[in-house]
Amino acid sequence: MDGEKTKSTAFFSRLAAGITPYTAGEQPNGRQFVKLNTNENPYPPAPAVYEALKNFDAVSLRLYPAPDADALRDTIAAAEGVRRENVFCGNGSDEVLALSVPAFFDPGGKGACFADVTYSFYPVFCEFHAVPQKIVPLREDFSLDLNAFSRTDCQGYIIANPNAPTGMGIPEEQMFSFVAAHPDKIVIVDEAYMDFYGRSAAKGVGKYKNLLVVKTFSKSYSLAGIRCGYAVGDEGLISALFRVKDCFNSYPLDRVCQAVCAAAVSSREYYAACTEKVVAERERLTLALRGMGFTVPDSKANFVFAGHRQAGGGRIYRELRARGVLVRYWDKPKISAFCRITVGTREQNDALLRALADILK
Ligand code: PMP
Repeated sequence: MDGEKTKSTAFFSRLAAGITPYTAGEQPNGRQFVKLNTNENPYPPAPAVYEALKNFDAVSLRLYPAPDADALRDTIAAAEGVRRENVFCGNGSDEVLALSVPAFFDPGGKGACFADVTYSFYPVFCEFHAVPQKIVPLREDFSLDLNAFSRTDCQGYIIANPNAPTGMGIPEEQMFSFVAAHPDKIVIVDEAYMDFYGRSAAKGVGKYKNLLVVKTFSKSYSLAGIRCGYAVGDEGLISALFRVKDCFNSYPLDRVCQAVCAAAVSSREYYAACTEKVVAERERLTLALRGMGFTVPDSKANFVFAGHRQAGGGRIYRELRARGVLVRYWDKPKISAFCRITVGTREQNDALLRALADILK
């Protein structure tokens, strides 16, 4: 067995052998779960998305897609009130973030500063590119201490806002003061969940040359399956992302993706209505969970972070799973009493609450 193992890794680079990759949330096949584990939107994509797919010219797939997704960037730029030169698109915001690390941080440099409890892909990107990690603890109540960030010697910052998995948010004025206080450092604000909060820093892009705001089609646009995310920032920052992208993949977005996402951006009213329903359910779920004895920070995202000191996060996760409800759990310091629960439809959330009542009875 050992011999087999040695053989299978014999050709690994030191990097491939040594790194611990990110683990994505489970995508079950087979058994039907109430799936509240990866912050997908419970509502379908906009009707315009179905139209774009129906009218899609399959013959065009013979040809490579637009390498820089110019038409989609124009549509996004119009929606964000910026120019095409201020927008970069990638294969999911994960890819945009993955490219941002080598674009803005040096191997062995002063490092990237981020919270101890935040999106767990950031440390993986940093490790992959040998960028030192400057980790700042969240406060006891899981809020982000921007003053502690300010005191940290680093090349720049990566801030998820709202933060994941806590769901806590920082209003844009506070973010702008922080960005303005560090004009020589890049501030990457990961706004994957921002539409459920509505306090985006993207409107500061024309003003701050060091601000990069990263967004996604996976959450509020109900398009996690299409894989598209984007960054909005100063033209200089965007050109750095293109330089790195063109060392890696000329065509990260396929033709179907580019057509579908443009249609989605034009469906503002439909998505605003879906977001409103998610936010209303988030508030209902938060109150119901607190009523059952859970600690739940005020969430600004499409998920809630619920902790139960007696039951523990691991037990809640396992017992929910046994009852057909999938949530996310991390056996990590500070958060092992908690589960991250995606806000579903009213019916899904009721199923979750029934299962929890059964577990805690
Ligand atoms: N940022 C955060 C904070 C996330 O939780 C996620 C989803 N896992 C992403 C970025 C990446 O999302 P996507 O690649 O689907 O755009």
